[in-house]
Amino acid sequence: MSLIVENVSIAPVTGPEIKSGYIRIEGDLIAELGPGPAPDTPGATRIDGTGCLATPGLVNTHHHLYQWASQGLAQDATLFEWLVALYQVWAAMDAEVVRGAAAAGLGWLALSGCTTSSDHHYVFPKGRGDLLAAEIEAAREVGIRFHPARGSMDRGESQGGLPPDVVVEELDEVLAATSEAVDAYHDPSFSSMLRIAVAPCSPFSASAELMTESAALARAKGVRLHTHIAETLDEDEHCVAEFGLRPVDYMEKLGWLGPDVWFAHSVHLSDADIGKLAATGTGSAHCPSSNGRLGSGIARVSEMLRSGANVGLGVDGSASSELTSLAGEMRQTLLFQRARYGPDALTARQALEIATLGGARNLGRDGELGSLEPGKLADLALWRVDGPFTSAVADPVCALAFGPPPPLARVLVGGRTVVEDGELRTVSQDAAGRAGAAAHRRLMRLAEERGFTASKEVHGGD
Ligand SMILES: [Zn+2]
Repeated sequence: MSLIVENVSIAPVTGPEIKSGYIRIEGDLIAELGPGPAPDTPGATRIDGTGCLATPGLVNTHHHLYQWASQGLAQDATLFEWLVALYQVWAAMDAEVVRGAAAAGLGWLALSGCTTSSDHHYVFPKGRGDLLAAEIEAAREVGIRFHPARGSMDRGESQGGLPPDVVVEELDEVLAATSEAVDAYHDPSFSSMLRIAVAPCSPFSASAELMTESAALARAKGVRLHTHIAETLDEDEHCVAEFGLRPVDYMEKLGWLGPDVWFAHSVHLSDADIGKLAATGTGSAHCPSSNGRLGSGIARVSEMLRSGANVGLGVDGSASSELTSLAGEMRQTLLFQRARYGPDALTARQALEIATLGGARNLGRDGELGSLEPGKLADLALWRVDGPFTSAVADPVCALAFGPPPPLARVLVGGRTVVEDGELRTVSQDAAGRAGAAAHRRLMRLAEERGFTASKEVHGGD
């Protein structure tokens, strides 16, 4: 099956930009792209891209979809305060909550140009159904590529960790469930729609043994490793007090630096830390809205890039960055870096590269995704930059990266339309949104039934 996007401005991320050209797609792959009119291709379906900018689909490399159901709580808390407030709520979740939250969260991502998303699910309360299967089912329906990371916590309060014991698992249970998830779902193929990663939650909620055993499991299975690191100064102090090492040094000691690892956040890094990430090929997911919401700090993204350390984007959340648009994170990244370092800290094109190819590198898929090149998967976003307001910006990449995200004319995943004219086409947009709202109401009710009372502090406001 041939598909041609024509009369379109193209920012391929690698290779020269094209002011007006075409992209020819065969099956789920990009066959060719170039300037000028599209070649004559009998039987091809044609999409008129007049007034649009084509970019690679955006790649989200850090998220917690279940948190869609607990947005808007603990609004003025630090990370540790926010976690302590919400662990009790999350302990009540079940597969129905996760299913609805994931339907809304993944639909929302597609509507901001995302074609591949990871998810870090690390709370598995006992007897609440198959939570991983629930989000995988939602991803299949929405139709974007999905990289769920089977998360875990085994270091509860009684072991010196932050979470209450009720939300942690035993080491053996975690390893068995993670191994089963890889065997059941992981598809290593080029066109893969689903890959599993292994993801103990953080140094303050996972034991050293869980970290090292998880790394051994992931490497034996040939899948990637993910965790939270260096998010806040509280975490820094916790690591020094408990382990005698700062977070990146602790990860190094546990065998957790390498080209098969990407970290969420990487905010509080020393020069030596950045050097270690660059030297080992360890990636980072930059989550500026979440870092801003929790007052965690501003990651040293422009310095990391200069040192050769890979950076992708993550919306994180959803409860630590409500309704965050992945495309909007390009703008947040640009503005945060420039506020910290000055106007030459990061360009619009670098922000686009972080959101696409940087993300693909984090997920180990830069051979297949992240740029528009012949032979790569046909995952792309068509941004409408000819609207009455956006058309006043001369450079379409500037309009995309500096402004609020322009409307989407089309989102293709492997050549398949997921979004058209700003609406989800694979699932009912209205139903996906309502499923997220229902998941929120259900989680609040389940939490109350377990004795959780939402205090004024948790709800925020007056
Ligand atoms: Zn996170």
